[in-house]
Amino acid sequence: MNATHKPYLSIVVPVYNEEDNVKPLYDKIRNVCEEIGESFEVLFVDDGSSDSTFDMLSELRDTEPNLAVIRFQKNAGQTSAMAAGFEYAQGEIIISMDGDLQNDPADIPKLLEKLNDGYDLVCGWRKERHDKFWSRRVPSVIANWIIGIVTGVAIHDNGCSLKAYRSEMIKQVPLYGEMHRFIPAMSTIVGARISEIVVTHHPRQFGTSKYGLGRIWRVFLDILAFKILLSVFALPSIQNEQGTNTSSNKHLTYKYNVFRVAAFLCLPFLIIGFFLINISIISALCIIGIGFSLIGVGMLTGASLSKTHREAADLGRFAQFFIYQCSRRPIRLFGPISIVITILSCFSYFILPNIAPFPLYIGIIGFHIGLFGEVISYANAKKVNDYTVEIFLNTRNEVMNLDNNIQ
Ligand code: UDP
Ligand code: MG
Repeated sequence: MNATHKPYLSIVVPVYNEEDNVKPLYDKIRNVCEEIGESFEVLFVDDGSSDSTFDMLSELRDTEPNLAVIRFQKNAGQTSAMAAGFEYAQGEIIISMDGDLQNDPADIPKLLEKLNDGYDLVCGWRKERHDKFWSRRVPSVIANWIIGIVTGVAIHDNGCSLKAYRSEMIKQVPLYGEMHRFIPAMSTIVGARISEIVVTHHPRQFGTSKYGLGRIWRVFLDILAFKILLSVFALPSIQNEQGTNTSSNKHLTYKYNVFRVAAFLCLPFLIIGFFLINISIISALCIIGIGFSLIGVGMLTGASLSKTHREAADLGRFAQFFIYQCSRRPIRLFGPISIVITILSCFSYFILPNIAPFPLYIGIIGFHIGLFGEVISYANAKKVNDYTVEIFLNTRNEVMNLDNNIQ
């Protein structure tokens, strides 16, 4: 298979320590794809496994021309692994699935059939899910319910990795942090038509799950972060990458300018407020000033960087550091945590009116910092990925050593 003969189907499978699963899974996928009868490639993304997953995959590849393997230098998380898979996939249609045999490749034809009814994304719904009840299924039902309310995309099972996408759609969706759980909501930003079908789910036979109860907290934070992103302003346009200038882009440009002016006007307040911090009106304006400044800077940075097509390595050191740190959790965390602080301090106002404003200020500032981090991460997700590809064994039987990232 070469660049001029792109496959119709690309199957993307993130794997982290799945040594016993990769071979049987590959066989199942190949059998199903051969039955479908279209050209295909299977992309395994080894997310820095410490067991023999990669050895298994490279051994398999000696006999399997349709198999491509990406290996990360270190564990970067399922979202990064999926993002890399989507980036390298050449197929017109992309399917993603877990690498632990819990999803069943036999569902692929059903997903394709639904996709060809005129959708851009078809999600699997593990209606009969074989995972632990209290630590998995209950939190998942609640999370899906909240995600439905918050994002307006009411599908049953956001967390099911078995999904089918039109390649041109999913390649436009920025994935960062742990956003693989929010692909349906993120896809609506690029106008995806979404549907879902019931899929089979098996209990895990080999290896162990990579997530514990900590996931509940992280999902909760990501829902809040996503809400901030959606509700405060429209997202930096993705269509820019194709150079098109739609009416929504004009609208966004207008918004950038409003924020830029607001940020500029608020800066003097910030400086004055700094010296007169105990005058309450001024300090309030100061906080608003900080907020607007941060949004302004965030939007400008996001906008300007998303317009230039420079790679991360071409950016200045400071920008590299900044964007990279924002894409990681600490700076993005400010937003959701400060929403919680703000709500709590509003309640505490009734009990302790004297100290309540201080946490409120902290909440407001933190919210803006978080928003800033979120915008930077969103706008730059495509350029500054949180992974380093060590090896790429592609379907053309070449071995490529890549060093495409900053650390
Ligand atoms: N995975 C990954 N990187 C990680 C964690 C998980 O690539 O840091 C892969 C894992 O190997 C599996 C899929 O993501 O193929 C889903 O993980 P898991 O089965 O542990 O999640 P669960 O089914 O328990 O929700
Ligand atoms: Mg699993």
